Amino acid sequence: MEVPEKFASLGLTYDDVLLLPGHSDLAPADIDMTSRLTREISLKVPLVSAAMDTVTESRMAIAMARQGGLGVLHRNLSIEDQAYQVDLVKRTQTGIISNPVTINPDATLEQLDKLAGEYRISGFPVVDTDNRLIGMITNRDLRFTPVAEWATTKVDEVMTPMPLITGHSDITRDEATVLLRKHKRERLPLIDDAGHLTGLITVKDFVKGEQFPNASYDGAGRLMVGAAIGYFGDAWQRATTLIEAGVDVLVADTAHGNVRMLLDMVQRLKTDPATKHVQVVGGNVATKEGAQSFVDAGADAVKVGVGPGSICTTRVVTGVGVPQITAVYEASLACKAAGVPVIADGGLKYSGEIAKALVAGADTVMIGSLLAGCEESPGDLVFVNGKQFKSYRGMGSLGAMSSRGKKSYSKDRYFQAEVESDDKIVPEGIEGQVAYRGPLAAVAHQLIGGLSQSMFYVGAATVPELQEKGRFVRITQASLQESHPHGVQMTVEAPNYAGR
Ligand code: 5GP
Repeated sequence: MEVPEKFASLGLTYDDVLLLPGHSDLAPADIDMTSRLTREISLKVPLVSAAMDTVTESRMAIAMARQGGLGVLHRNLSIEDQAYQVDLVKRTQTGIISNPVTINPDATLEQLDKLAGEYRISGFPVVDTDNRLIGMITNRDLRFTPVAEWATTKVDEVMTPMPLITGHSDITRDEATVLLRKHKRERLPLIDDAGHLTGLITVKDFVKGEQFPNASYDGAGRLMVGAAIGYFGDAWQRATTLIEAGVDVLVADTAHGNVRMLLDMVQRLKTDPATKHVQVVGGNVATKEGAQSFVDAGADAVKVGVGPGSICTTRVVTGVGVPQITAVYEASLACKAAGVPVIADGGLKYSGEIAKALVAGADTVMIGSLLAGCEESPGDLVFVNGKQFKSYRGMGSLGAMSSRGKKSYSKDRYFQAEVESDDKIVPEGIEGQVAYRGPLAAVAHQLIGGLSQSMFYVGAATVPELQEKGRFVRITQASLQESHPHGVQMTVEAPNYAGR
């Protein structure tokens, strides 16, 4: 029978497909999950936390970046508050101190001692009035000067003068580790070509950094962070303020991205000399044409998902949406040709769906409900019948869009910017709660572990290989039932399976 044009082809989602197993000689160590988030940014772990007020503020963004993913700060905040959250992530200590406390050569050892006590540090770069590095002074250098002489002895009399072991400003973490090990140093001052001090690396902070070997760092060694923006009202001011605060990725956060005003905004961000260095994600779309319009506007990635979210009611309220596997596949047809990465946003219920999204054509996935129960998500723990929960709500829910004593900054996400009174709001999401899951590190471990296993089954050592090799089998309702535990009463919940 000929399918009338009005009916697009059959749409499939996560539960409609499984991945075919393939030949595999891989060991866990062979598996590399690095994937492209945007044209210019790659993540060692292809996970992004959703820009929702019950998922991502600075704590979650820090935790996500440490795990090798990225957090996108929600925008149900004033511009200043959201920019402050960016700053909090950027100021998190990662081992490279970009603004170290210094001392000048004329200072006395007594002054040095006072400074050391104040900042609780034991070694300082010594710089001249031009901020040029002329030496280092540490506890060791003080050992041979009696305390009685500290008031009259100057720093440059006892410091270790240049030449010292130094690193160049743009040294990578790996290169710095090699230098510190080779020369058995505790500290590595960083200098530019003219000898100005630009940073300091300490072994102690580096060890902390080693706890998070996959962490997502920017060029200056700070954690990376994304932030949501809209396109209504003061959106441009929001975007530029976030850029000033140091945001790495601006993420267009709207339920329906294929609108002229947003496309123009993306284009402006990617052409204005003051903003074009920042990566911009366009979205959300669910068709090839929608994705193409963002590719044409110059977006650095395209976010896909209209209605798959766990708290979302767009598809039932409006009748609009595309099942997520099909939406991601269709969008990737436009994006792949242009080398623009795809973010699959919403609808993930289990770790196995990360690999499904990647095989369908995504490069990373954005997650809400699976992360809302983490310790680092905003909001308090709620006890219900002795069990612990955290609240989770759609950004299009009445609670997130209505004032309820607090201004809502993100109503325009759902085309409701100009709706004055709360009882006129047409929500596209619900409010609820999810089980408390503990720290993100444990939750991410399960998600990453699940993806690693998927790659092993498919026989793919890298994400591009997974995308290339992965094949789906379409399944029936009966086989979906077979996929989940059946015929057994579950007595203990697995950390990565909560039942249905
Ligand atoms: P989840 O991972 O919980 O399935 O989906 C999270 C995603 O749902 C978010 O990243 C966002 O794109 C989308 N979303 C968040 N709130 C709402 C809402 O109220 N309505 C709709 N339609 N989508 C939402």
